Formats: sequence, structure tokens, C-alpha cells
Amino acid sequence: MILQLEPKLAAPSTDALLAAVKGIGYQPTHVTTQFGSYVVCVGKKDFDIRTLGSLAGVRDVHYVSDDYQLVSRKWKVERTYIDLGDGVKLGNGYFQIMAGPCSIESEKQVESVAKHLKSCGVRVMRGGVFKPRSSPYSFRGMGIEGLKMFAAICREYGIKIITEVMEPAQIEPMYEYIDVYQVGARNSQNFNLLDELGKVDKPVMIKRGISGTIEELLFAAEYVFSGGNERLLICERGIRTYERASRNTFDINAIPILRDKTHLPVIVDPSHAIGLREFVEPVALAGVIAGADGVIVEIHESPEDAASDGAQTLNYEESARLFRKVRAVLNVQENW
Ligand code: PEP
Ligand code: MN
Repeated sequence: MILQLEPKLAAPSTDALLAAVKGIGYQPTHVTTQFGSYVVCVGKKDFDIRTLGSLAGVRDVHYVSDDYQLVSRKWKVERTYIDLGDGVKLGNGYFQIMAGPCSIESEKQVESVAKHLKSCGVRVMRGGVFKPRSSPYSFRGMGIEGLKMFAAICREYGIKIITEVMEPAQIEPMYEYIDVYQVGARNSQNFNLLDELGKVDKPVMIKRGISGTIEELLFAAEYVFSGGNERLLICERGIRTYERASRNTFDINAIPILRDKTHLPVIVDPSHAIGLREFVEPVALAGVIAGADGVIVEIHESPEDAASDGAQTLNYEESARLFRKVRAVLNVQENW
């Protein structure tokens, strides 16, 4: 159950409210985000909701039957959208394409990709500077200096940045250079990282864990929301199954299910989902048709030379075609 509090409720009233909730038999968690103040109540199930509703400071009471609460669509029927500024919005009818290399490699590379994105009307660039790699001998990213360069170029082009954060200590140094923090599949259940991302006011996109369930993904988002940050996106990027013909198995079921279960925007990552460049396009389009609010794809001027994930990376011609097709599908969908 979620109690939505009156804005700017004084501390003594909040304390009295928490005590009253405890007295009834619930375990309360007080959550204050950029947009609101809430008390999440778990524990006791059967209860006359009117008693809580009449407590001083309570604006609204929402009964949520899911175990996750704040990310559930049961209390917030209207979908959330994220405003990145300068007219770049994502979710609740605002679709965004995010594209860029797996890894940030050089100034020349970033300049080239940014120019390409600009010419295609894409407003958000991806690119990792901290790379989680299976082998310690693989390229592990340019680090914070690479991010500064990435940000300087993107600002010139009016392009927003999404990039992966791997540990709590990176959050603060990255802050001024990024627009969205990406939590990678491998860190989807790094609860210390999720807790710390709850304390920042910039958006966070959480990818589904490699063997993560839909519920675990929603709980990962609940960690960040309950930590105080409700500017969240969630991303289906394929899961590990017994199938070896593709890098991962794109769980298309997850798209409508997530959209039913949560009010948060749902993004699809066809690149990591299938891992095969020639099939990224159909998977991306399938994701859009299934209802995704955005797509994130890996692109590079010459994928053969990419420092990481070249096999699933589109070149400029392929990516321009994909962007065109995504927009064509969105146009058709509007008239369905
Ligand atoms: C990436 O986006 O390059 C990445 C490492 O993705 P994932 O965490 O989904 O594997
Ligand atoms: Mn990658």
C-alpha cells in the first residue's frame, strides 16, 4: 500500500503518521523523491483503508496488490515519461531512439557518430566508458576522461548521453557529464549501486539481468524509486537461455508484460538481445510493435573495427535504415 503525502509535510507530522501506520501493523518506509513524498506500507493485508486515508498529511491511499509498490501500475495508471530537457522526452507517447557505439573509443569516433545521429534526427547517444567485460584482457573503456570528451562533443551537437555506471564511486564524477545513468545487465542486482542511484536526481535506465526475471527487474527499479529517484527507465536486453544460435534470447513477452505491470517507460535493446548485426533490425521492429517506448542500438562507422561488440553493431547505412523503419512503424501504429 502507498500513502501519498501532502507536499512539504513537516517532520513532526510525518513522524506521527509513521507511528500511526506502525501501530496498525504495517512496516512503513518513508520515500521522498523529486516529485513527491510517499509512505510505502508492507505487511498487514486486510485493513480498512479509510482509517489511513483520514490520517493528517495523507493526500491519497493506494492499495497495491503487487510485492513491488512504487513502480507498479496499480497505483499510477497514467504512464510516466522522462524529460531530458531541450525537448527530449521519453515514455507515455514520446518515443526515443538512442544509438551509439558499445564503447567510446576516440574523439574522432564520437564526432563521427554524433554527426551521423544529428543527420538522422536522433537526440540521444549511448556509449560506454566503463565497460563490464567477461575477460579482464578485453578493452575496459576510456574511463572518466573519455566521458568528458564524449560529453563535450555531444553538447556541441545538442545530443543527450546515456552511459553505464558500474559502481557507486563513479556516480558523482559522472554526474555533470551524463543525462541518463545506465545500469548494465551484470549490475542489475547490485543493490548497493541501486541504493546510491536512488539518491541522485538524474534518470537511470536499468537493464534486465542476464538471467533476471521480469519481477527481479521491477524490484531493481523499486530499489532506486524507494531510494528517492523516480526518474526511471527499464530495458529488455535479452536473457540467457539454452539457445546458442543467438547471443541472448530476446524476451518479446517482457514488453507487453512490463507495460502492464509498471508505469515506467520500457526500452528495448535488440543489439545485446540477439547479438547478430544482420538480425538487429527485425528484432528492434518487433520490440517497437510490441509496445516499447524507446530503442537503444549499437552503431559504429566501421563495426569490424569496434573495440567491443562489433558483431552486433550496425554501420551508418544500416542504422539510418533502421531509424527510418522504426519511425515508419510508429506512424502506422498511431493509426491502428
Ligand atoms: C552495453 O550496453 O554495452 C552493455 C554492456 O549491455 P548489457 O549490460 O545489457 O550487457
Ligand atoms: Mn555492448
